[in-house]
Order: sequence, then C-alpha cells, then structure tokens
Amino acid sequence: MASAKKKGRAAVRGKAKPKPRARAKKRVKVKAKKQAKVKVKAKAPAVAMRMIDLDPVRKCGPATSVERLIRVVEKKDAEVVNHLVFLDRHGWYCEHGRGCPAVAPARKHAGRAYR
Ligand SMILES: [Zn+2]
Repeated sequence: MASAKKKGRAAVRGKAKPKPRARAKKRVKVKAKKQAKVKVKAKAPAVAMRMIDLDPVRKCGPATSVERLIRVVEKKDAEVVNHLVFLDRHGWYCEHGRGCPAVAPARKHAGRAYR
C-alpha cells in the first residue's frame, strides 16, 4: 500500500508581526486643582437703571445748549431714584452733579443709541 506521504512541510513562517506599539500607558496625574481662587468682585450693586431719552428742546426750550437729556430711573431694591442727565457743551452731568453714578450709564446709553 502506497501511502502517500505528504511531504509538505510548508514553511509556515509565522511572521512575527511587530506588536502594535505597546500602548504606553500614560499616567496622567490629574491633580484636582481645588484652589479655585474666587476673587470677590467689587460687589456688583444690584441696581437697575432705566434710560429714558427726553427731548432737550422740549424740556429746556429751543435756546438750550443741551444736546442730550436722559432720564435715568435708578432702582435700588425698593428705592427709586430719578436722575436727569444732560449733555451740553460742558459735557455730561446729572442734576445731582457730575459725579453722580447715573452719568456713566447714561453716557453709555447715548453712545449706543447714537453712534
Ligand atoms: Zn443723579
């Protein structure tokens, strides 16, 4: 009986596959930064300001040099303060004076509306 001897020594060379780059385990140290520096902001005043544009000519007459007239209604809690802010050739000022806190927002308001 002829036994077919298979001589098939196929050279199965297992190609050593290069290992996919070993995943470098990155050890990321996540430091919990718990030192949140919370700066206490200069207390934002809970004040609401409402701007109402007024007509300076109507209010002050045709000869007025007032270019802008803005009523500022300032609401502080329950208190309401009315301001009258003017702009004339001398600049901005409130009926309470130039240093009145209503001047800056009124100015800003005017700049937004007219430029
Ligand atoms: Zn004022």
